[in-house]
Amino acid sequence: MVVLLQLPEGLKHKAPQIIQELGLEDVVISSSPMYGGCDIAIDEARAIGADRIVHVGHTYFPLRRKVIGIEVEYIPYYIDIKIGWEDLVQELKRLNINTISILTTTQHYHQYSQIVEYFETRGFQNRVRKGPFCSNSGQVLGCDAYGIDESAQAAVIIADGMFHWTAATHVADRMYVFGINPYTGKFSQVNDVLKKILKKRMASLFRAAEAKVFGILVSTKPGQFSYRLAKKMKDELISLGKDAYILVSNNLDPTVISNFMFIQAFINTACPRIVDDVEQYKKPIVNPEHFRDLVELIRKSSSMRLEPIQ
Ligand code: SF4
Repeated sequence: MVVLLQLPEGLKHKAPQIIQELGLEDVVISSSPMYGGCDIAIDEARAIGADRIVHVGHTYFPLRRKVIGIEVEYIPYYIDIKIGWEDLVQELKRLNINTISILTTTQHYHQYSQIVEYFETRGFQNRVRKGPFCSNSGQVLGCDAYGIDESAQAAVIIADGMFHWTAATHVADRMYVFGINPYTGKFSQVNDVLKKILKKRMASLFRAAEAKVFGILVSTKPGQFSYRLAKKMKDELISLGKDAYILVSNNLDPTVISNFMFIQAFINTACPRIVDDVEQYKKPIVNPEHFRDLVELIRKSSSMRLEPIQ
């Protein structure tokens, strides 16, 4: 049985060790970049005739492309962290917060119940759900912090860096958001950063409404693939008098995409976090969740243009 092994960037250097630990034989290593559980290398697996893909570092992600005849196995990679954040506990108490929503990444999820116990024994109640792309309640992905229960007063996200903290942008106006770096033990309140991101996304939306030519970005990554949606959006844009082109690739590279100079704005149906790289794309980018708002803005601006002059 031929196995295709996928490793995230931070684990590629450990390939021989992981192959040995997992007891893999007849293995081929994918050298493509690998960003998340959405990114299952089915095209590579087909090309080499693999029967099985071993995808390390992430949990199951709902796929939008069928993987027929290839077994996909997700193997999380756990990293222990030191639990103990008294500075944050004091800050939460100072703000009179007693209900929190604790999320952590796949790497530390094996310690989730200990983390919850740490906060509960200090008087905090944890309220949490399972996000649509996560396998567990209380887990966070770059595209899914929907495990945050908005009835809590604060979200506490234990993750190495801003990428996962900023997944909570949707609650930035409604509750405190704290990020804990599990390696330094330091915490930050990130509401201001998240609000800036929201502002940037809104500015992109308004700029996109002025565009005449749209590029709709589609990724073939099985967890991101949204070709049908892209076609619907293309038809709707054309019905509004716009030009629209669908651009498809596995990996969206802003340097390559910026060669399509005739395109004035992008709709992104791939990883939703791409919109935060708007500076690299040099054009406004809008996610599908804001497509209806975009259509409304286009309609409004064209009806204003049609108003007769008194
Ligand atoms: S869609 Fe983006 S954020 Fe979500 S798992 Fe994939 S790469 Fe990560």
